Amino acid sequence: MLARMISAPDNGWSFATAREPARFGACQVNGVPGVDHATGARGTLCGISARCITRYLHLFQPDALQSCRRCRRLAAAAPTQPCVQERLHERVLNAAPGRLRDDLLATLREGAKVRLWISGPAADLMKDYAKLDRLTDGAGPAAEALGSAATAGLALVEDTRWRFLVVLPDAGGHPLLARGPIDLD
Ligand SMILES: [Zn+2]
Repeated sequence: MLARMISAPDNGWSFATAREPARFGACQVNGVPGVDHATGARGTLCGISARCITRYLHLFQPDALQSCRRCRRLAAAAPTQPCVQERLHERVLNAAPGRLRDDLLATLREGAKVRLWISGPAADLMKDYAKLDRLTDGAGPAAEALGSAATAGLALVEDTRWRFLVVLPDAGGHPLLARGPIDLD
């Protein structure tokens, strides 16, 4: 309990304060080099049709000199997005009710560090990231979930006491939760 009391931040952190600016892909209008636009649902944010643009792999940089001014204004005005803790919290709500879920939800609300959130071949996730031998709570079902799936998502959350493992089945089933003491790391 002591560790939890110490870890409870009184720094104003919350899902509301931790929301992040919306991010957009970058694109260029064909035949008009030198100006980056933000990519929206139907083309550029500033209204140029998707037929006329070439998309880039990098993100639109609102501060960059070559960025379209109209896109900059519209990107800045776009609604903010939930932080990683809030997005994971949303998924963990679907896990089986219990102490483990309650503790993980609480620590995510306090801004616990999401060390990793990836998806891929479940066998690789189990071998490289899950560290099942260090888990003291829920290891069996988590191993089973990873062992029986071809691909899955995996998230690691750390607070001052625990290292939580979240297995997110690809088919959208219930997440499996496990944890072990952090000081074994
Ligand atoms: Zn634009």
